[in-house]
Amino acid sequence: MVIKKVNLETVIGITSKLPQNDKPEFAFAGKSNVGKSSLINGLMNRKHYARVSQEPGKTQTINYYNINDEFYLVDLPGYGFAKVPESVKKQWGKMIENYLHKSRMLKQIFLLIDIRHDPSANDKMMYDWIVDSGLTPIIIATKSDKLKKSQIETHINAIKNVLGMPEDGLVLPFSAQSKAGREEIYEVMESILAEDAEEAE
Ligand code: GDP
Repeated sequence: MVIKKVNLETVIGITSKLPQNDKPEFAFAGKSNVGKSSLINGLMNRKHYARVSQEPGKTQTINYYNINDEFYLVDLPGYGFAKVPESVKKQWGKMIENYLHKSRMLKQIFLLIDIRHDPSANDKMMYDWIVDSGLTPIIIATKSDKLKKSQIETHINAIKNVLGMPEDGLVLPFSAQSKAGREEIYEVMESILAEDAEEAE
């Protein structure tokens, strides 16, 4: 995939309406600090465009990055940060729910899980929430450089087990440091874009 142009086109808060986009959206969800900004920067081929969080869990916005005027990467607010007050958690839930149910152009949601650890209760809840919304998440197992190559498959299987994923469920390891796994994610996105273009014809 060639990234020619990236633009943080829309930032919406709790009270804002979703933008009426007419291009496909790929959304990214995950716990604070899982490496979501780093992944999005990696996919955009930019070092610091998506803000790598100083204070995890603080920003409660949905950020739409327009890529090449072809599609959007949608950065959903991170969850599971203990210090966030209950009221903020509730707002967060509403925002995500609204996005999952109302986004007409959402083509694929990626759920990020740190490859080193079993998914948390929050991760499992998010996974179930996505599935209950009628979507099939693809898992991106982040920070794969923190493991030895020989450990990766075992950890992927553990993630699948804990989440209760089907046999053919997809877990893609990714490292923001080495960019390992980036091509595989691009391939998934490209095949969805191609399918979508065919359907539109
Ligand atoms: P976010 O809160 O999910 O957006 O996570 P960030 O992208 O801000 O990353 C959180 C921390 O993990 C930062 O210190 C990153 O440098 C680090 N990090 C993110 N991705 C990777 C990765 O693939 N490998 C390693 N080693 N560190 C990473």
